[in-house]
Amino acid sequence: MVRRVLIETFGCQMNVADSELIQGILQDSGYQAAASLEDADVVLLNTCAVRERAEERIFGRLSNLVSWKRQRPGAQLGVAGCMAERMRHSVMERAPYVDFVIGPDSYRRLAEVLERSQTRPVTDVQLDRHEMYEGLTPVQTQNVCGWVTIQRGCDKFCTFCVVPFVRGRERAVGPAEVLRHVERLVARGVTTVTLLGQTVNSYLHEGVDFAELLKRVAAVEGIQRIRFTSPYPRDFTEELIDVIAAEEKVSKALHLPLQSGSDRVLGLMRRQHTVQEYRELVSKIRCRVEGCALSTDIIVGFPGETEEDYRATVGCIQEFRFDAAFLFNYSEREGTYAARKLVDDVSPQEKGRRLTELIAIQEEISRLAYEARIGTTQAVIVEGSTRRDETRMMGNTDDFKTTMFPGQGYRVGDLIEVKIVGATSHTLLGEPIRVLVPSAVPITLVDSLTEGISLGASAPAHG
Ligand code: SF4
Repeated sequence: MVRRVLIETFGCQMNVADSELIQGILQDSGYQAAASLEDADVVLLNTCAVRERAEERIFGRLSNLVSWKRQRPGAQLGVAGCMAERMRHSVMERAPYVDFVIGPDSYRRLAEVLERSQTRPVTDVQLDRHEMYEGLTPVQTQNVCGWVTIQRGCDKFCTFCVVPFVRGRERAVGPAEVLRHVERLVARGVTTVTLLGQTVNSYLHEGVDFAELLKRVAAVEGIQRIRFTSPYPRDFTEELIDVIAAEEKVSKALHLPLQSGSDRVLGLMRRQHTVQEYRELVSKIRCRVEGCALSTDIIVGFPGETEEDYRATVGCIQEFRFDAAFLFNYSEREGTYAARKLVDDVSPQEKGRRLTELIAIQEEISRLAYEARIGTTQAVIVEGSTRRDETRMMGNTDDFKTTMFPGQGYRVGDLIEVKIVGATSHTLLGEPIRVLVPSAVPITLVDSLTEGISLGASAPAHG
């Protein structure tokens, strides 16, 4: 009998892409996507380890699934991804009803792990610095937007970050394989691809750097927009800025993690750039890339962060006026340099105060950035109907702002012109004017495949 799998994805966009890869591996091995929990024989949580809170949420979800497992003889429950790698054997110590734990470099063996774990618990978390999953075909889970992983792992070892420990060393997917994935997505109706890597712009494969790869992807016929995440500030080259500026298809929404506005804290984080270097980069990008919209990541309450350091971060948020920001409290991660050598000395209350204040400041900046679009016309790729109202549709502008509008007469995949008539701090409201480029491929395919993967989050892949 065919077994059905439900994948629940937590964490960043890299995990979303990995869930598509896992789904492809399982389909090739004869498994099907489950339409719901009730329909599933196997539930696999693809997990995140970047913050303690994310891991607690996953353990909460695992304990919720105990009753599902009890009601279904032969059902299997598994944990994949970064938390599986980080916690290894302790996942099963804490959640003994878990049947298998599989790390990010072991997915090729997933069918075998599923088979073996029918009789006894299995843990497979071997990191493999050569594993790029080349030659495999992920299942596409979104209509017009596709993910293409071009790089895995990270060599930067920022002192707060667990990624190099759970994803291994940096390695790049060859350009031919990247283009194969992009062309496959285009053939299925995808018009926006997001190139993914932990430090995506440090990409280098046999002399092809990220700027060159971006040009090659832009040359693929049928692609309308290319995004990438997350770049590492120090690896932003002049050539890359030139390609972003010159190539119409490359989105002008750029994510540029800052992490702290204090040089002292950036040094403790080993971020390899100062605030002034970051400032010069922002200024160069804004001068040369017309209409660019920047977003960032910030951590507050890093070990040793004083009020003065924190005020420097507030100053940067006010100075750089990001369109959007992912703001977090510092969360100590076992095994990192910061956990081993630095004292987590900012109290939870103080971290909370700093974060709350920073969010309020950023919300106001975002609101103004979104409101500034009112009265403009934007090119929007139609992605589907809104969750709450099927008569309204949504899509994204070139600078990656979610836009909602009355949807009659428009099809998923159409590139349309929209007049912006309203805004919140996270969404634009528009009136459609006309179709600029109609959808080239009728999009019906994805809906039947999406059910096996439910997406918990899609934060930027770390950078
Ligand atoms: S924060 Fe980004 S660059 Fe730094 S170690 Fe983590 S993944 Fe690498």
